[in-house]
Amino acid sequence: MKNIKNLNIMNSYAEELHEISEKCPPEGFKQAEMILKNYSLAEELGFDRDYVDSSDCLDVFAGNKLLKDSIPIAQGYSGHQFGHFNPQLGDGRAILLGEINKMDIQLKGIGQTPYSRRGDGRSALSPVLREYVISEFMHALKIPTTRSLFALKTNENVLRETVLPGGILTRVAKSHIRIGTFEYARTKNNEVLKTLADYSIDRHYPDLKHTDNKYLSFFAAVCDKQASLISKWMGLGFVHGVMNTDNMTISGETIDYGPCAFMNTYDPKTVFSSIDHNGRYSYQNQPAILIWNLAKFAETLIPLVDEDTDISVKKLTEVLQLAMPSYQEYFYKEFGEKLGLENIDNDNSKIIDDYLKILHSESIDFTLSFRNLAKIVDQSLTIDDSVFNKSKDFPKWYKSWKKEINTVNVSEKINLKNPCFIPRNHLIEDALINAVDGSMKEINLISELLKEPFTEKKGFEKYTLAPSSNEPYITYCGT
Ligand code: AMP
Ligand code: MG
Repeated sequence: MKNIKNLNIMNSYAEELHEISEKCPPEGFKQAEMILKNYSLAEELGFDRDYVDSSDCLDVFAGNKLLKDSIPIAQGYSGHQFGHFNPQLGDGRAILLGEINKMDIQLKGIGQTPYSRRGDGRSALSPVLREYVISEFMHALKIPTTRSLFALKTNENVLRETVLPGGILTRVAKSHIRIGTFEYARTKNNEVLKTLADYSIDRHYPDLKHTDNKYLSFFAAVCDKQASLISKWMGLGFVHGVMNTDNMTISGETIDYGPCAFMNTYDPKTVFSSIDHNGRYSYQNQPAILIWNLAKFAETLIPLVDEDTDISVKKLTEVLQLAMPSYQEYFYKEFGEKLGLENIDNDNSKIIDDYLKILHSESIDFTLSFRNLAKIVDQSLTIDDSVFNKSKDFPKWYKSWKKEINTVNVSEKINLKNPCFIPRNHLIEDALINAVDGSMKEINLISELLKEPFTEKKGFEKYTLAPSSNEPYITYCGT
């Protein structure tokens, strides 16, 4: 029998946090087949290739067979969704098999759990594949994210507005602990809350264990991780789309790729999600929502930071107030690197702001603009042939920018920071339609290109371009 090399599945969450999780063996999908396999991630986890290709592996990740020692659970969590508190969310369609190499192994779309409420616990195939491709792209860019190990087709249907083919995603994460997990623990009692906080510190921020006030330091560390993460999203033109507190991890990994999408033309008000009518989670609002969510997180920690509530609130507020300046620092560092600037000071931050004003006023493609800039500076493209050709302000901006950069190797530097390939909405959409129809050719090709997002490839120019039509792109939550 084939086996997983060195496999050692642990169940620390199931064992230590049973008050906020429910044991839940998957029912399984007998007809399932694997359609995307992430061999390199499998190897990192200690699975050998033979195992990945075995029927045993299919059985495990289709939920038909349990890994030895696995204690499958569904995790409970609450969450503020579009600003409204929902105390009872939880893994309604996901089951955690346990941890391998300290990484959570979760099956998403695997059927009902005690937290399913009225849902069927299932996922449609298309969003499973979408999450697979986009999360692996984020990883290729070194943006903290949950990973995708396998995508399976269940060969059973799910009923949404129409009947759709079903899918299962094997999601791998540093953990699935969310701000919403703390909100849920807070609805239980302070003992549970403390156990969750200690567990989280042990797992994600072990260096803080011996600090003076480890819960306050923990809060500061999460603020820092999330501020850095959101600055990276902004640098990529990524709109998460559903930054509810249950979709924000305490590890700082991007999670839940439901209605997310990438901006084409630069417009800070960009929203893709069909349900985000007021633009709460628009591109430009992401930093403000970050702070809002961190404030909700801070509230959960009040009982732990100090016995005296007033002191606790004061201390947490002081830390929270540093989150926006810290985000801003990350933001300018991120965009400074994107523009090949040597260092960031007041003058340079104005160069960044002015650049974004040009993109906005001329509706220029965000991703392409940086690659064009690299070509202009190495003289392989003229301004007239570039995306900046209509901008009256660009030549002046270009002159002041050039004064602030070291022109040696600047185009290489820019190209190493700015991807030419991103999961363009129109390309992904076409590839998903084909994949659901049974042809994986296009999605496999896009996945390959996105593994090396900085390297231009002859013959694949169309994959770097924005769509020819400017029709608004709409995304849906419903996996
Ligand atoms: P999400 O949109 O992925 O952030 O999910 C929000 C909440 O709805 C989570 O508690 C999910 O587990 C739950 N949920 C979403 N889809 C389903 C489904 N098909 N069946 C059961 N629960 C679901
Ligand atoms: Mg979610």
